[in-house]
Amino acid sequence: MNPLSKLLNQQIRYNGPMSISQFMEICLLHPKYGYYTNSSPFGQKGDFVTAPEVSQMFGELIGLFLAQAWSDQKNLEEAVLVELGPGRGTLTADIMRVTKSIKNFPKKIYLLEVSEKLKLLQKSKLEGYQVEWIKNLNQIPPGPIILIANEFFDSLPINQYLKGADGWHERLIGIKNGELAFGISEQKLNIQSTEYFTHAVKGDIVEVRPSVEPIITEISNKISQWGGISLIIDYGCWDLKGNTFQAIKSHKYINPLEKPGEVDLTAHVDFSSLARSVLNCSISKLTDQGVLLERLGISERANILSRSLKADDLENHIAAHRRLTHPKEMGTLFKVMAILPKLSRMPLGL
Ligand code: SAH
Repeated sequence: MNPLSKLLNQQIRYNGPMSISQFMEICLLHPKYGYYTNSSPFGQKGDFVTAPEVSQMFGELIGLFLAQAWSDQKNLEEAVLVELGPGRGTLTADIMRVTKSIKNFPKKIYLLEVSEKLKLLQKSKLEGYQVEWIKNLNQIPPGPIILIANEFFDSLPINQYLKGADGWHERLIGIKNGELAFGISEQKLNIQSTEYFTHAVKGDIVEVRPSVEPIITEISNKISQWGGISLIIDYGCWDLKGNTFQAIKSHKYINPLEKPGEVDLTAHVDFSSLARSVLNCSISKLTDQGVLLERLGISERANILSRSLKADDLENHIAAHRRLTHPKEMGTLFKVMAILPKLSRMPLGL
C-alpha cells in the first residue's frame, strides 16, 4: 500500500465512502502525493503522450487555424491567448512560433495550470513570451480570448450515478477486505430529471463533471461579450454513456483504484454536456481530430517536413502523422469543438 492509499483508507474509515470526484481530486492534486504534483507524466518515458508531444505539426496547424478564425472576426480589440492545462507548454510554444509574423495574433498568454512542477517546464519552454499563470478564468482581463484546451477537460473530476431498480444511486469508493473498492450509495438520490438522465435504463451509469459548467459559462460569457474563439480537443463523444473512468500508467490501462497518486486518472469528455453549458454563443459541429487535421493540410505539411528527414527520424515522422490522424489511433477518438460568437461564420476545417 503506497502512502496515498493509506491516507485514503484512513479518510474513508473516518468519514465513510467518498465520491469519485473527491477521490480523483485527492489522487491528482494532493499537495504531497498527487499525480500532477509529483510526476512528469508526458512523453515516451512518461505515462502518456499528447498530440502536441507527438509532432510539431499539431500545434502548427492549430495555430494557423486559430489565426484564420480570429482574422475572420475582423475584431479590432486586442485578443489574448489562453491555454487550459498546458502540460509541458509545447502546444502554446508551437502556436506562438507559427503565428509569429501574423500581426493581429495575441502576444500576451494566460495559462491555467495547477501543477507547480509543470509550471516550471512551461516557464522554460515559453521563455521570451509574455506569460501569466492564473488560478481562475476570471483573472483574465476583459477583452477577446483565443482559448485552447487539449486534453484538459478529461482530467477534471467526475461523479458517477448508477440507475438501480429503485432509482439513482451514486457510485462511491469505500473499503472492502482492507482495499479500496467501488460500491454504491445506500440512499436513493433525488437527481434532477434532465434529458441526460431520463433516457437511462436500469444498470446504466451516467457520468457528470461538475466543474464543466462554471468553466464553459465563463468562456462563453467572454466570447459573447468580446469575441474570440475557444477550441476544445479531447477524447470523448456526443451523449457519452457508461463508465469511462480510467487510469493509465506507462501507456497501459490499469485499475483506477490501484496505485493512487502514481497513475493518471481521467474520464472521457461528454461534449453534449459541454455544449449545454454554452450561453449566447455558437458551437461548431463536433469534428474528428483526424478529419480537422487533414482539412487543415497535415498531409502537405508532413510531406514538406519529410524532405529533410532520413532513416529513424523519417520513420518516426510518418508514424506521428498516422498517430494524429488515423481512425485506429487518435484520429476519431479525439474530437474537436469550437465556441464562437453567435452567428459567426464557422472557421475553415470545422
Ligand atoms: N494540454 C497539454 C497537457 C494535457 S494533461 C497537452 O496537450 O500536452 C492535463 C493538464 O491539465 C496538465 O497540465 C495538468 O496539470 C492540468 N490540470 C489538470 N487539472 C487541472 C485543474 N483543475 N486546473 C488547472 N490545470 C489542471
